This record gives sequence, C-alpha cells and structure tokens, in this order.
Amino acid sequence: MSDTPRTDEQINGKPCTRFAILDGDSLRDALVASEFARQLERELNAANSIIRQQQLLDEENLGLRQRIKRLEEFVRSCADNFDCDHDSHKWSTQCRACDAQRLIDAKEAKP
Ligand SMILES: [Zn+2]
Repeated sequence: MSDTPRTDEQINGKPCTRFAILDGDSLRDALVASEFARQLERELNAANSIIRQQQLLDEENLGLRQRIKRLEEFVRSCADNFDCDHDSHKWSTQCRACDAQRLIDAKEAKP
C-alpha cells in the first residue's frame, strides 16, 4: 500500500494498492496538478495548526493541574491544621477548617 494514495489516485485516476508502475508511467516520478498539491498543503497546514493548538492546550492543562494540586494541598493543610472555630459556628460565620473539609468532601464525592 502506497503511503501517498491520494497523489497516486490523482496520477492514475484510480487508487493504487501498491507502489508500482501503472500504464507505463512511474508513480514515483509522475507529476500532479499544482492545485492538487496546494490542496494537500492547505490540509497539512490546517492539520499542523490543530496539532499546535492541542499542544498549547496540553501545556495549559498541565499548568492548571499543577495549580489545582497546589490548591488542594493548601485546602488539605487548612482542614488538617486549623481547629474548627466554634465561635464562627455560633454566629453563623465562616469557619475555614469546616470550609476546607467541605471542599475536600465535595471533590471526593465526584466520580
Ligand atoms: Zn468549623
């Protein structure tokens, strides 16, 4: 099977199942219309653009995962190292130890 089936088809007017000389014309040395080459180049550029976008998203994703990990460690340290503030509960204000534990519980409840 040729690794350039679309070009082979442009040359021969039909798909090739192997790289070979057909109708007396060498596929390897045959020429294709410049418009077809331009079409392939545009498609290659579009594909490379998508790949680059995916690489940027992967890098951003890694950065966000690292940031989330640091935030989770901070929340865990709040839950572990702060005492529950009973005055806060008495006056219905925020208690950072309980807030941190709620964040941890909410994350662990998700699949
Ligand atoms: Zn509390």
